[in-house]
Amino acid sequence: MILSTDGRTRVFQSVLIPVCLQNEARLESPAAYLKIYGYARMKHLFSLPAVTLGLAVVYFCAGKLGLSLAFLNASATAVWPPTGIALVAMLAWGPRVWPGVFVAAFLVNLTTQGSFWTSLGIAAGNTLEAVVGAWLVCRYANGRNAFEQTQTIFKYIFLAGMLSTAVSATIGVTTLCLGGFARWDACASIWSTWWIGDLVSDVVFAPLLLIWSTRPRPRWKFFQIIEGLLMAITLLLLGQMVFGGWIIPREKNYPVEFLAIPPLLWAAWRFGLRGGSAAAFGMSVIAITGTLRGFGPFATQDPNAALLLLETFMAAIGLIALVLASVVEERNRVLIDLEGRVAERTAELRGTIDSLEGFCYSIAHDLRAPLRYINGFTRVLLQDYAPTFDQPGRDYAHRVTEATEKMDKLINDLLDYGRLSSAKLPLELVNTDKILRQAVEQLLLEYSDAGAVVNVESPLPPVLAHPLVIEQVALNLLRNAAKFVAPNVAPRIRVAAETASGRVRIWIRDNGIGIDPAHHAKIFGVFERLHIEQNYPGTGIGLAIVQKGVERMGGRVGLESKPGEGSGFWFELKSAEILVS
Ligand code: ADP
Repeated sequence: MILSTDGRTRVFQSVLIPVCLQNEARLESPAAYLKIYGYARMKHLFSLPAVTLGLAVVYFCAGKLGLSLAFLNASATAVWPPTGIALVAMLAWGPRVWPGVFVAAFLVNLTTQGSFWTSLGIAAGNTLEAVVGAWLVCRYANGRNAFEQTQTIFKYIFLAGMLSTAVSATIGVTTLCLGGFARWDACASIWSTWWIGDLVSDVVFAPLLLIWSTRPRPRWKFFQIIEGLLMAITLLLLGQMVFGGWIIPREKNYPVEFLAIPPLLWAAWRFGLRGGSAAAFGMSVIAITGTLRGFGPFATQDPNAALLLLETFMAAIGLIALVLASVVEERNRVLIDLEGRVAERTAELRGTIDSLEGFCYSIAHDLRAPLRYINGFTRVLLQDYAPTFDQPGRDYAHRVTEATEKMDKLINDLLDYGRLSSAKLPLELVNTDKILRQAVEQLLLEYSDAGAVVNVESPLPPVLAHPLVIEQVALNLLRNAAKFVAPNVAPRIRVAAETASGRVRIWIRDNGIGIDPAHHAKIFGVFERLHIEQNYPGTGIGLAIVQKGVERMGGRVGLESKPGEGSGFWFELKSAEILVS
C-alpha cells in the first residue's frame, strides 16, 4: 500500500484504517482510501471509541440472547449471533475494535457462569476468532466484498465459517474443562455445539449484515416490491408450516424441512444476494423459534440436539442461497457486459457496412460513366462508319454494345439490391390493385411483340408496404413470367390474391418452362441462374431483389413450379384491410 507520510496520514493509519484492508489497494492518500471504501461518512459518524463501545453493547445483548438458548452447558450454545457481529465489525473497522469484543464476551460469560479466569479465557478465544476470521477473509477472500464472487464465498465459508470458529470453540471448551465448569468426557459434544453455533452465525447472520450494509441500495420497481412481499409471505407461511406447527401437528415431526428451500431459491434467484441473505436469516429465525417451542422436523426430546441439527440444516441451505444468489448476480453482470459489448460491436459493424455500401455505390456509379461512353461511341461507329467496316467488324461492334448494355443492367440491378438492403422503408397503406395494374401495363409495352396476355383478378386487396418496392417486386416477377416461356409460346400470366389471417398473398402464375423443385430455394440467391445467357438473358439478381424487398417489408416469398407446367410465384405481406375499415 502506498500512502503519503504527512501527519494526517499517520493519524489516519493509526486510528482508522482497518488493518485487514491495507492489502487491498494501492492508494495515494487517506482521502482516496476513504472515498473508495466508503468510510468517509463513517469517519464523521463514529469515532473509534464510540464504535468499540457500540460493538460491545450489541455483542453483549446478542450474547445474552444466545446463551439463553444454552442447554448442554451454560457457556455453549447452538445459537450465537455475536460471532457474526464481531466478524462484520472487524471487516468494517479493522481489528482495532477488538476491545469491544473482548470486554463484551468477558462480561457475557462472567454474568452467566464461570469464574473471572474462565471468562477471561473464553473472551480471549472469542476475540481471537473474530481477528483471525477477519484477517483470513481479507487476505484470501476479498474482505468485505467476499460475496461478490462465488469462489470467494466458498473461501469465506471455509476460512471464517469453519476455520476461525474452531479457534473459539477449542479455547472456550478447554477453558471450561480446565476451570471445572465442564467434564472432559463431554468436551466433544460441547465443542461441536459451540462450533456449529459460531459457524451458522458466520454463514447466515454475518452475510446479512455485510451484504445489506455494504452494497449500494437497490432501486426496486413497483412490481419487484410486490414480488418481494409475496416472497416474504410465502417464506413466512412455509416456514410456519414446516417449523411453526401450522397445519402439521406438533407430535408428527414429518421430515418436511425441504419445503424451506423453495422460498430461499426464489429470493436468491430474483433478489440476488440481498434477497438470499435476508430469506436465509428470516427462515432461521422462524425455524429456531418453532423448534424451541417443540414444533417441526428437528424438534426432539433434547433441545440442544434439536438446535444443533436445525443449525446444521440452516447452514447448508444458507450456503445454497448465497451461492445461487452470487451465481445469478455474476450471470447478470456478464449479461450486461455482453449486451454492452454486442451493442458496441453492432454500432461498429453498422458503421463499416455503411461506409462499404457508400464505397460500392460510388464505384458502381463511376463505372457506368465510361460504360456509357463505350456504348455511345460504338453506336456512333456503327451508324456513321458502317460502310468502312467489313461484316466481322460490324459484328464485333454489335457485341461491344450488347456487352456494355448488359454490364449497365447488371450494375443497375446491383445498385437496386444494395439500396434495398440499407434504405429505410417506411410502410404505408398501399393500393396493390393500382400498382400491379401499372406494372402490368409497363410489361405489356415491353412484351408487345410477344403477344403476352395478362389477367388480373380484381380487386387486389390493399397491403402494408412501401409503394416503390412493391412495384419493383411486381415488375421483376412479371418480367420473369413473360421471359421464361418456351420458344414461340405467347406468355399467359394470371395475377390473383388470397387473404388469410391478416395477410395478403399475391400470386403471379405463368405458362412458362417451369422450375425443378430442387432449384426452388437457390434461385432467390444473387447471381443464381438456371439457363444460359443465349437462351434467356438476365443478370441473376431479379429474384434476389424480390426476396430482399419483400422481407424488408416484413413479408415472405415463395413459389410452386414443376418443369413444363408453368410457375406460380407469390409474395405475402400484411393486409391493410384493418386500416381501410
Ligand atoms: P434473371 O431473370 O436475371 O435470370 P432472376 O433472379 O430473376 O434472374 O431469376 C433467377 C433464375 O430463376 C432465372 O435465371 C431462371 O432460371 C429462374 N426463374 C425465375 N423466374 C422464372 C419463371 N417464371 N419461370 C421459370 N424460371 C424462372
